[in-house]
Amino acid sequence: MDGGASILKFVQMQQCKMNDKPTFDREQVVPPIQLFDNLYFVGNPEVGCFIFKTSEGLIMVDSCFAHNVETILLPGMRELGLDPADVKYMLVTHTGPDHIGGAYYFQKHYGTRIVVCENQWKRCPSPEENEARIRRAQEPDFQYNPFDMRSLIWPNQDMVGRDGDVITLGDTQIQIVKTERMVGGGGLSYLATVYDHGTPHVWCTYGNTNVVGNLEDMALYRDNVQRFKEYVERLGADVVISSHPFVDESVKTMEQLRARKEGEPNPFVFGKERVARFFDILDLSAAVIAMRRELDLNEAGSGPYVPGVMDFINGSINPNAGK
Ligand SMILES: [Zn+2]
Repeated sequence: MDGGASILKFVQMQQCKMNDKPTFDREQVVPPIQLFDNLYFVGNPEVGCFIFKTSEGLIMVDSCFAHNVETILLPGMRELGLDPADVKYMLVTHTGPDHIGGAYYFQKHYGTRIVVCENQWKRCPSPEENEARIRRAQEPDFQYNPFDMRSLIWPNQDMVGRDGDVITLGDTQIQIVKTERMVGGGGLSYLATVYDHGTPHVWCTYGNTNVVGNLEDMALYRDNVQRFKEYVERLGADVVISSHPFVDESVKTMEQLRARKEGEPNPFVFGKERVARFFDILDLSAAVIAMRRELDLNEAGSGPYVPGVMDFINGSINPNAGK
């Protein structure tokens, strides 16, 4: 089976919760990598961020956890010859601590403009509360828990990313699409042109792949995936990469890219048909999980349903949960 086909199979297993978790090793080092002429990835197997190089500076998509900034993001960017101080915009898929964690650092040190969807900015703590969190984090007995939303340090409230907006920096435009996975949850996904040795392709990333919440949430998830797929087809996306490498096994694809020989295709170019199929898989997997939920089965369909931690983390606490 060729790479693209096995990736789709992996995503299907992952989305239908058939893969045993965890499917990644947090300690594994993923060398920072240039994926396309104008697109880079820095992260680990758990989560990473995309960095666009434009004619007028850098645009980041997501920022990993706060604790990844000094250990992975900054050294990785420098290794790639990218100056963190050049990051003009950071486009956040959603305000889970694994995506917005580094935003405070970039805003504070480099004046990076932070783009978040409207209803997720509403979860931003007050400036006083944020200051209190910053002070608490400096206390000697502070116990850092990356998943504790009450200690997450936010950037100051900044730009709102709206459905259909386009962010332009120099020669680069990034299309924003609102993709909520839970009712009232918010979330943004992105598409942009990338170049492989000068040949244009259309890259996309989907901000909220994991299926969580109740049946109403899952119906919304499916609607949003379908709507994003319309953008994918209209803009002709032929590259799709998750900011969570464990979702689409992209660490393996990165290894293939590093081993690529002159004249060989870029393994991240799946082709339009497979990218469309990727979104069908997200949609149909959500349908499968919804059917399991209707039967009071767990996500994997292997036993009775028990509310899990994924129902409550990633900043997606559903006001309707339990109803
Ligand atoms: Zn995440």
